Amino acid sequence: MNQNNNQNNQGGNKNNRKNTLGILSIVLWAVILTAAMQLLVSALRSDKTDEIPYSTFRQWVMEDKVATVKMTSSQFTFTLVEDEKAAQEAQETAQQKNPFFPVGKTPVKQYVTAPLNDDDIIPLMEEHGVKEFGTDLVDQSTYVWSFILSQILPIVLMVAAMIFLFRFMSSKMGGMGGVGGVGKANAKVYMEKKTGVTFADVAGQDEAKESLEEIIDFLHNPGKYTEIGAKLPKGALLVGSPGTGKTLLAKAVAGEANVPFFSISGSDFVEMFVGVGASRVRDLFKEAAKVAPCIIFIDEIDTIGKSRDNRMGGNDEREQTLNQLLAELDGFDPTKGIIVLAATNRPEVLDKALLRPGRFDRRITVDRPNLAGRLATLQVHTRNIRLAEDVDLKKIAQATAGCVGADLANLVNEAALRAVRHGRKAVNQQDLLSSFELVIAGAEKKGTVLTEKEKRLIAYHEVGHALVAAKQKDDVMPVSKITIVPHVQGALGYTLHLPEEEKFLMTKEDLYSEIRTLLGGRCAEELVFDTKTSGASNDIERATELARKLVAMFGMSDKFGAMGLTTVQNQYLDASYGLTCAQATAAQLDEEVRKIIDSCHKEARGILEENRADLDAVAAYLLEKETITGQEMMAILKGDDPATADNYGANPS
Ligand code: ADP
Ligand code: ZN
Repeated sequence: MNQNNNQNNQGGNKNNRKNTLGILSIVLWAVILTAAMQLLVSALRSDKTDEIPYSTFRQWVMEDKVATVKMTSSQFTFTLVEDEKAAQEAQETAQQKNPFFPVGKTPVKQYVTAPLNDDDIIPLMEEHGVKEFGTDLVDQSTYVWSFILSQILPIVLMVAAMIFLFRFMSSKMGGMGGVGGVGKANAKVYMEKKTGVTFADVAGQDEAKESLEEIIDFLHNPGKYTEIGAKLPKGALLVGSPGTGKTLLAKAVAGEANVPFFSISGSDFVEMFVGVGASRVRDLFKEAAKVAPCIIFIDEIDTIGKSRDNRMGGNDEREQTLNQLLAELDGFDPTKGIIVLAATNRPEVLDKALLRPGRFDRRITVDRPNLAGRLATLQVHTRNIRLAEDVDLKKIAQATAGCVGADLANLVNEAALRAVRHGRKAVNQQDLLSSFELVIAGAEKKGTVLTEKEKRLIAYHEVGHALVAAKQKDDVMPVSKITIVPHVQGALGYTLHLPEEEKFLMTKEDLYSEIRTLLGGRCAEELVFDTKTSGASNDIERATELARKLVAMFGMSDKFGAMGLTTVQNQYLDASYGLTCAQATAAQLDEEVRKIIDSCHKEARGILEENRADLDAVAAYLLEKETITGQEMMAILKGDDPATADNYGANPS
């Protein structure tokens, strides 16, 4: 075990070795210095000092030999008469030889003895003519100093060293803010007395608003509910994709009810030390109780509310936090008027205990906005923006299918910035459309130089997608934009498909035509250039994924029928899923998927072969313009002049 460790450490850890050497040398120096001090002290002491047994000392006193005695409780230091005489004689002879010899400088030999408990010694000394005896006056302050030096200083040094060590370790471990910070609730709880947000600021989401209306009413006059004996709701779960306005809605509830708004994010609870999250929850509810009625908003509740039985061993910290949250939810008095709103985009991972009646038993879905919702959102966000005459928000709403509220807010702001950049006084339609592209596809990648051949390949690839899509839908415009200008996030070119409006069900035929559309790009490469490019990799991934879902999840294949082979793990974020079938079945599933892809590939190619003239015409126009709209493409297919197409009301600039 140890050897292993050593070997691991030998991986060139020179720093460690240096440190060890440094510490060793310090210790060595300390030892040497201490020894030297001891020697020095004992040398000074033993200078002309003899240790004598107490009995001898007593004997000498009685024999009148002792001249002076200095007494302390631990030792008597004394001189003898004969020594004093000798010293005096020596002094005199020295002074005769040298008149400047200092007075009294000849040392007298001293003796020490350890005193016994002897009461008779003082009368005895008086009797036998000891010249001087007594103790030195002891300065009190020296006692204090020696006490400080010997007792307090080491403690202070130790404490300082410990603090230093802790600091050092904590900074190594990612900073826990000193030892004093443990267990203290420094959670980022944001409290707003007045949010200033009302339902008028939240566009669309009428169903969610309706569900929340009751909560507001309850905050206004709880008596109405308690009179009848109704139990008041404690919490509601807002479920929806990121950016759909869950936080905004929660703030609006607080604003409408005119109560304070506490907000905290689930990830703030997850701390290094077990127990911190739980104490934060406790503090949060304590603070809230002080100002009730109020709203507590917990964002990303899935980070703490994850199902406990999901994982072996589990995460102690999260579990404690969750338990505390459950305890607080059960504990607070609902008549006081604390409402807990929590947001998540993964309700399926939440612990069942959280969703029990009396806790987050209400679930409010916050959907991606539909056409009307997007229009309303655009209207809300352009309230304070100066718009040019040509702006038609309805057309922008049409062009932005699939966007969430946050995207639209971002889009409007980008458009305003663009207008300023171009030195205009108002935002026009083209600003809005361009910033849509910016929000969806990222900025245009400047400086990417494509060869003519590459451009042609990309153009045909993109038109391949668009044409397969258009021809399958009886000439309904399927795409809003085709471009061969490279964008930061997108591939070298891209085709912006219009997601179908308010379509909740996909038929088997819809799915097949989507797969054909995805394969249309590759088909065009094969048909026109007799080649394959790596640009189709994303298309192929998505087509395969769809085909797999079609078989395993939607039960649409002939082979397996309505047998489910997967479970959805996360419906709202990335729709990941896990297989629940035997390995042999999985192999058959793959075979089934391959068949679907093959047949769709052939059919897509067939569509392009039939419409080769249209393919060439649109591709040529795209090569010339680099970016064309769906309307322009449809005009070409109908045989009209693409220049007359209505491009969502924008005049390209
Ligand atoms: P979530 O909490 O669902 O991730 P947010 O509430 O933080 O989303 O929304 C981010 C921003 O997007 C809001 O501040 C707001 O500007 C805008 N937004 C989102 N949905 C809407 C909506 N329905 N109406 C108006 N603005 C919205
Ligand atoms: Zn493609």
